Amino acid sequence: MITLSTPIEKLSGIGPVYQKKLKRLKIKTVNDLIFHFPHRYEDFSNMVPISKVKINEVCTIKGRIIEINTARTWKRKMYITHAIIEDTTGAIKAIWFNQPYLTKTLKQDDHVYISGKVTISDTEIAFSSPSFEKVQSNEEATHTARLVPVYPETESVSSKWIRFILKPVLKELGNKIPETLPEQAITENNLMPINQAVWQIHFPDSKELAQQATKRFSFEELFFIQLFILRERMKLSQEKAISLPMDINLTKKLVNSLSFKLTDGQRKSAFQILKDLEKPRPMNRLLEGDVGSGKTIVAAIAALNTARKGYQVAFMAPTEILAKQHFKSVSDTLQDFNVDIGLLTGKQDQFRSRKLRNQVVEISRKKLLEKTKGKPSEYTNNLETGIDILIGTHALIQDTVKFGKLGLVILDEQHRFGVNQRASLIAQKTDLIPHLLSMTATPIPRTLALTIFGDLDLSIIDQLPKGRKKIITQIVNSKERNQTYQFIKREVKKGRQVFVICPRIDKDDEQDEIKNSSWTGVKGAKEEYDKLSKKIFPKLKISILHGKMTTKEKDQIMYDFKNKKTDILVSTSVVEVGVDIPNATVMMIEGSERFGLAQLHQFRGRVGRSKYQSYCFLFTTHPSRQSYQRLKALVDCHDGFTLAEKDLAIRGPGSFVGARQWGIPDLMMGSLKDIVLVEKTRQTAKEILAQDPELKSYPLMRIRLDKFRDRVHLE
Ligand code: ADP
Ligand code: MG
Repeated sequence: MITLSTPIEKLSGIGPVYQKKLKRLKIKTVNDLIFHFPHRYEDFSNMVPISKVKINEVCTIKGRIIEINTARTWKRKMYITHAIIEDTTGAIKAIWFNQPYLTKTLKQDDHVYISGKVTISDTEIAFSSPSFEKVQSNEEATHTARLVPVYPETESVSSKWIRFILKPVLKELGNKIPETLPEQAITENNLMPINQAVWQIHFPDSKELAQQATKRFSFEELFFIQLFILRERMKLSQEKAISLPMDINLTKKLVNSLSFKLTDGQRKSAFQILKDLEKPRPMNRLLEGDVGSGKTIVAAIAALNTARKGYQVAFMAPTEILAKQHFKSVSDTLQDFNVDIGLLTGKQDQFRSRKLRNQVVEISRKKLLEKTKGKPSEYTNNLETGIDILIGTHALIQDTVKFGKLGLVILDEQHRFGVNQRASLIAQKTDLIPHLLSMTATPIPRTLALTIFGDLDLSIIDQLPKGRKKIITQIVNSKERNQTYQFIKREVKKGRQVFVICPRIDKDDEQDEIKNSSWTGVKGAKEEYDKLSKKIFPKLKISILHGKMTTKEKDQIMYDFKNKKTDILVSTSVVEVGVDIPNATVMMIEGSERFGLAQLHQFRGRVGRSKYQSYCFLFTTHPSRQSYQRLKALVDCHDGFTLAEKDLAIRGPGSFVGARQWGIPDLMMGSLKDIVLVEKTRQTAKEILAQDPELKSYPLMRIRLDKFRDRVHLE
């Protein structure tokens, strides 16, 4: 007898090869199998007599095979299977390519369903590679003649195979799947009970029922995320962290030392963070602010307050370029404040010491780690004490890095880090858990933010510093290319600098992550660099930057660009986040349709950081309607939050950071847009936790939550 915990190898029809494949899909038990959801449906429910079949319309016919054979075409070295199917109204042809074994399954006189589109090719009308299924006397169809589930096809496990294995399992399980949601949630929200929903999500009897099943599982996904977050928050609020009283005079002194006035958003966010740091439980706050809104200074304010109370700060950035930039700007900002700041990246470690009057010195890794392990300076005059603020890349979370008194962890561009990495930084705890400040410039739409962070611990900088000019953004087609080059020449003549972004390093980069035929002909940075430096701008100084260069090379290139030794920087997306070069006023993006809105907005944010008018040129060749829509959105809109909402509408939430981390199945992603649903699940989760914080009367929910923890590994 099958139960939810039956291992898949006990099921008939799954041999060792498929066991392995399924395990790689994390499907080990019947439970995993039935909760492996389709990501869409193929609608084959439109059954028509053969005489009524229409060209280019998806439909299903039922008939008898009167002829079938496979032949090999020598010219194209391909197997082609031809079949003719008839019913009482007529006969039609079906063709399959490269499936030589088909004639072993389908034979003359078999009764079959054929589902798919009829197309015209070489003057003949035929079903082209349709789905098919033999008609079993009293069995309903599984792969045709209905809404057919389509599963994400990975590890070469086909949808057809999954359907074939799954259906008998579901039949045998019958009504024996225990309900995971509390009764109350089901009735109040009018949700489909689990047994029906599991069946309908895989083999829906109608679109409406598929929708209801989807709604039920969307509710469930969101509900468990909420439950998980609320419980983690409850637990976190019981943990102890060091309380770091706000030093108002110190903060004022720092703010007054700046060459600019803080915006209201910066002030408010800094205040919220400092208030959190005062509490004896760990802060877990996300600082959201559009590109260029000035998050770094807010982080520096928090860092100084922490350091001054004798605790250390770990400040982590996703790239070396960014870590170095932060090292420079944070230590410049804090130069009159008696703090020792270290930079730990990959190879060259640096140290900026107040003893040496803020000189930056190279320091051995060993020495830097010793200083990190030591106690921070505690504003004493003992100059041989440890590091106050350690800035770095992923290197900060290696085992060898031990903090003596870690009080605050700052993660810049937090979405660039895996949840695991975040967790391991927090786990660096000594006896107390450090406070955590995450920052992001990839605005998360409100619904998502609400889902993932709740509204409590979110600080938003919702305006840019005063005096910034709107960046003029234009879509440029190939005819206008030369004009744009002339424009760039004039800008450089005026003393400005230019970024050129290409989607990849080499034109046909084998190692490209996205191997897709639609990528052929995409501009490579190297090729573009050659063209620009030899043909277009032979008199200008041009450099190239990409991820395969050594750290030293990259540093030198960035250093030269920052110091105006070069005019144009051709780069891959490595300059995407954070890079701050105020003198650059032109951002030119090749193959702009290859990038998502959020990323394009990030690129654009590399310019417009000074009083000069800045420009963003979106080069494109044959954009699809969807990508044109996306580029147009960027032209019209300069606010990252609005853009994120638009991206959500155009591309769906799957593209969003966070959504992936939670492992939400594709079919349920859409629910993230549904703010009412998010609210409801949150409310339900709150109510249940209020009655039963330990979930004692909900053993199944506890199991689900543990699974969840495995899935996301959040600390
Ligand atoms: P982001 O939020 O993208 O990380 P940064 O912290 O890099 O932004 O700041 C962008 C630039 O704006 C920096 O050069 C910084 O010195 C400057 N800046 C920050 N706050 C202000 C402000 N209130 N007024 C003027 N310039 C500011
Ligand atoms: Mg930044």
